[in-house]
Amino acid sequence: MFLQMGGLEIYGVTEIERFDVPLSFMFPELNDLVTSHEVAALNDPAVCSNGQVHLTIRSWLLRMNNRVILVDGCVGNHKNRKHWPSWHQRTDNVWLKKLGALGVKPQDVDVVFCTHLHADHVGWNTKLENGHWVPTFSNATYLTGRVEYEHWLAESIDGDKHGSFGDSVMPIVEAGQMTFLEDGSDLAHGLNVKLAPGHTPGQLMLHASGCETSAIFCGDVLHSPLQLRFPDISSAICFDRQEAAKTRRKLLSRLGNSEDYLLPSHFSDPGWCKIAAEGDWFSMY
Ligand SMILES: [Zn+2]
Repeated sequence: MFLQMGGLEIYGVTEIERFDVPLSFMFPELNDLVTSHEVAALNDPAVCSNGQVHLTIRSWLLRMNNRVILVDGCVGNHKNRKHWPSWHQRTDNVWLKKLGALGVKPQDVDVVFCTHLHADHVGWNTKLENGHWVPTFSNATYLTGRVEYEHWLAESIDGDKHGSFGDSVMPIVEAGQMTFLEDGSDLAHGLNVKLAPGHTPGQLMLHASGCETSAIFCGDVLHSPLQLRFPDISSAICFDRQEAAKTRRKLLSRLGNSEDYLLPSHFSDPGWCKIAAEGDWFSMY
């Protein structure tokens, strides 16, 4: 199953189908509402059940004009992620196999675009080879936002909190394969990036313009469909939750008045949707 927009084909490449995070941790304010009828009505088993928010860990693969572009790189193999057991020291290669099933070998990837530099978005940037982290995609140009990179570079001076900057970002920079993008940069014809701050300081969204509709790869501007019903509630892991809410409302309001597709990183299959405005909140279809 893939999304076709003119000459652009979009495929989801999932590494972890279901990753559970306690609602009380992810959205503490929402957890306080859990007994209300409003939230009970949202007890969609694909979204949230038994106090757990269900997330999917997914990359997007774009094919256009014989180019192969990856949006985000999931968790990866052999990474030390002790705080998240299902991310820690993975060895299953499931994600690479799915890429292979789409006819893509690592050396075929032309561009790797990182919306932001969290561990569940940059993992496959690198692979472990003879004890060293090397780029998984040997022929690719890797792209991320300059603001985002500079933020994590400054953070890393006090220690690499999540580990992913050291094992999945710096090796790309050191290999000379990383290029930094500014707000408004063009990644290719019809592919433009926009700053979407809040979840992280320099997160970028990728906007793919088609003939009639567009697709917006929004990274973690939204984590869960719960945030369509409660657009002002940001996750506890957002860097600036107020700014994240502002960015989210702006994006959803724009999408609610269009036929454009939204492609977040963590929604369940197929992972894309369109947005309808419902007064003060939103729904997906
Ligand atoms: Zn994420």
